Amino acid sequence: MRCACGSDFRCEALEEGEDVRVFLRYHCEQCGFRLGIETDPRKASVFFDRPAWTDEAQHRLDRLPSYVEPLVRQEVEDYADRKSIKVVSTDLMTEAGNHGMVSWHPDAKRRLSRIPGPVRAMARVELERTAQDRGLSEVTVELIEEIKARYFGMAASGS
Ligand SMILES: [Zn+2]
Repeated sequence: MRCACGSDFRCEALEEGEDVRVFLRYHCEQCGFRLGIETDPRKASVFFDRPAWTDEAQHRLDRLPSYVEPLVRQEVEDYADRKSIKVVSTDLMTEAGNHGMVSWHPDAKRRLSRIPGPVRAMARVELERTAQDRGLSEVTVELIEEIKARYFGMAASGS
């Protein structure tokens, strides 16, 4: 994007606002002109030719262990690309995560199937969310044991 003075704007910040809106701040270093745009992530996509992470999403990405970060980045950017969205927000990260970022180890899946119905749905959501928070790509039996003990007060051994 180009300033009226002819030089290019520099994007200073891409922040998440309320109600899934994003706020873009531009600065022209040539003439000092500043410009702010508030819009939704989909509309903001026209301002970027490659994936742009909001400051909040970038922060979440930065907190991941270094061996997971490139995988998560790729996964989320692929998801954004499929939806033709250039602006990656924390909401989009979560959304992308819910579509394949966390898989189930076969043993964990078997274990889940033995949990009584009403609790199972809750347990699945909790487990996938915890795995995502920790940057794990898979729900394991170990994670189930841990969550069981923490949330459902069950013995951590056997079943
Ligand atoms: Zn300017």
